[in-house]
Amino acid sequence: MRIVSAMLWLSWAVAAQDFDLVIANGRMMDPASGLDALRNIGVRRGKIAAISDRSMSGRVTLDARGLVVAPGFIDLHSHGQTPENYRFKAMDGVTTALEMEVGVSPVPSWYAGREGKALVNFGATSGHLPARMAVMRDSGGLLPRDHAVERAATPDEQREILDLVRRGLEDGALGIGLGIAYVPRVSRAEILDFFRLAAEKKTTVYVHMRNGGPVEPGVLDALQEVIADSASTGASLHVVHITSMGLRETPLCLEMIEGARRRGLDVTTEAYPYTAGMTDLGSAIFSEGWQARQGGITFHDLQWAATGERLTAATFSRYRPEGGMVIIHSIPEEIVQQAMANPLVMIASDGILEGGKGHPRAAGTFTRVLGRYVREQHALTLMEALRRMTVAPAERLGLAGKGRLAVGADADLVAFDAARVVDRATFESPAQYSEGMVYVLVNGVPVVRGGTLVEGVAPGRGLRRHATGGVEH
Ligand SMILES: [Zn+2]
Repeated sequence: MRIVSAMLWLSWAVAAQDFDLVIANGRMMDPASGLDALRNIGVRRGKIAAISDRSMSGRVTLDARGLVVAPGFIDLHSHGQTPENYRFKAMDGVTTALEMEVGVSPVPSWYAGREGKALVNFGATSGHLPARMAVMRDSGGLLPRDHAVERAATPDEQREILDLVRRGLEDGALGIGLGIAYVPRVSRAEILDFFRLAAEKKTTVYVHMRNGGPVEPGVLDALQEVIADSASTGASLHVVHITSMGLRETPLCLEMIEGARRRGLDVTTEAYPYTAGMTDLGSAIFSEGWQARQGGITFHDLQWAATGERLTAATFSRYRPEGGMVIIHSIPEEIVQQAMANPLVMIASDGILEGGKGHPRAAGTFTRVLGRYVREQHALTLMEALRRMTVAPAERLGLAGKGRLAVGADADLVAFDAARVVDRATFESPAQYSEGMVYVLVNGVPVVRGGTLVEGVAPGRGLRRHATGGVEH
């Protein structure tokens, strides 16, 4: 008798508090289905368990009255993969931050170093640059700076590099990362090998192209190279940061990508909402002729990230041998606006902060699109911006369980004030949290609550690709 009543009580308690967490009364916006309506969302065991206009109860209820509730943002281009960077990502609404351009090698130790410790979900491609640096004994860090830059790989070395990249894919990496411009001696035949490998493994090549800018060899022939490689091998292709490569040729590049897609090629692209890029001053990007390749810029258009100072011929020569991050003011504002207005362009940050130094895109990319380009400039609608931050990158990755508000999807969610959401990071002061993200959930766990970071949680998981082609964690 007592057992029966205890069981009755237990089942009543479960029914009354059906969910681990409920987000109540929010304006739910789901670009995948087009739904834009007031709904409650029930979360159970890290997944979306119910979506309804009827009231729900849970152990925790977050009141989202007056807020937009959307899938968490997926950043396809996030070099910053440290606790510091993850905090800025979370405050910017990013629930999945992926290092796809440079990638990593070896893959297993990189994942192991983050598992159980990360604020947001993480993942990486199998990187050609790190593999090449290891095989050719380059002394660089994130990017190569000597042996891999200065000489071509021998046939034996190329085989070894290819094997390392292949092993990375077999270890679960999310695709192949190629930074062609950073290793200018890499041949077109070698690059074609990586597209063949991607096609064989049914995955995507994420590429920083061989050249940028208007002067030939420039962005157009660089884009022709990778589109041709994609067409001839069948590998899908994602072209990173199209605005910083295309500069004034960006509209033409987007036309080429659109044409390739219309003819059945799987080619996608991305951009960040800033008029400057950033890279290592010690890298091959600054070899002889860099001014013309960057569209005709000068020393003064370079800003040393460590101090914020603008460079001169003298400081350029002093800093280059040492290397270090430099901001490149090279992208016209109207080009940024056109990219934001173009439905082909996904939003991705290319961000990295180290000790608070870097480019504001690491902290502000997603809220800057929502505040500046959606709310202030009407360059794109809110639903369209959300599409390019959520379901579009999820589809690029083959991730069926992310980027959507659907029962069974991972409970990576944001709730933000659309009237107030904005970036605060600047070139002078890049380590400023964005404002307006009220709640951010990663796998059902709040990492931002009431607009501030939650301490002591690490719900982020590593995303890995399986041999079948599916991505899971
Ligand atoms: Zn790049």
